[in-house]
Amino acid sequence: MSDVVHIGLGSNLGDRVAAIFEALERLDDCEGVSVVRVSTLLESEPVDVVDQPCFVNAVASVRTVLRPEAFLAMLLQVEEAMGRDRGGVVPRGPRSIDLDILLWGDERVETADLTVPHPRLHERAFVLVPLVEIAETLTHPVLNESMANLLTQEIACNGPVDLRCRMLARGSLQDESGFHGPRMEEDA
Ligand code: ADP
Ligand code: MG
Repeated sequence: MSDVVHIGLGSNLGDRVAAIFEALERLDDCEGVSVVRVSTLLESEPVDVVDQPCFVNAVASVRTVLRPEAFLAMLLQVEEAMGRDRGGVVPRGPRSIDLDILLWGDERVETADLTVPHPRLHERAFVLVPLVEIAETLTHPVLNESMANLLTQEIACNGPVDLRCRMLARGSLQDESGFHGPRMEEDA
């Protein structure tokens, strides 16, 4: 039995687009994990710590036979293998790659190391925009709202999305071929 998991990916250091796709390749190569869908890549303004470069973000849906704790450990290993430096850095500051578990089906997970649904998912347009794209019918299992409603609420709080996020590279829904490497706008 495998579960459907939605993950958020972000990078604001180095070649950000390449880092997102490298992370997806690495995840897809892991035993018991397969990447199913990848959203459009967005460039987003930093939130929380605003004095840092813009991020590239995406959301992917993944099937896995792993349980949440083992899956988180695998995400942290991929981050580490890709040079994520956690030593002495500003929390929520610049990172080569950040991999977060957003949703685990309709399960809730609350342990010392893991909170799912991700506690800030509903406050972030750069997560909600791609979630609406690849998983429009999903309902947040704690807030009991669709991703589309959560995005509408986020926009009501923070203003138009297009001032904060811009589309960079099309996701796998755009060409029906499933997960693949980067397809930039100029390749179209
Ligand atoms: P953030 O993503 O919040 O900016 P980090 O990537 O540095 O911060 O993650 C710090 C820790 O957050 C991880 O080591 C992990 O134990 C914990 N964590 C709690 N919930 C989640 C989640 N849903 N996804 C990923 N990490 C999580
Ligand atoms: Mg993280």
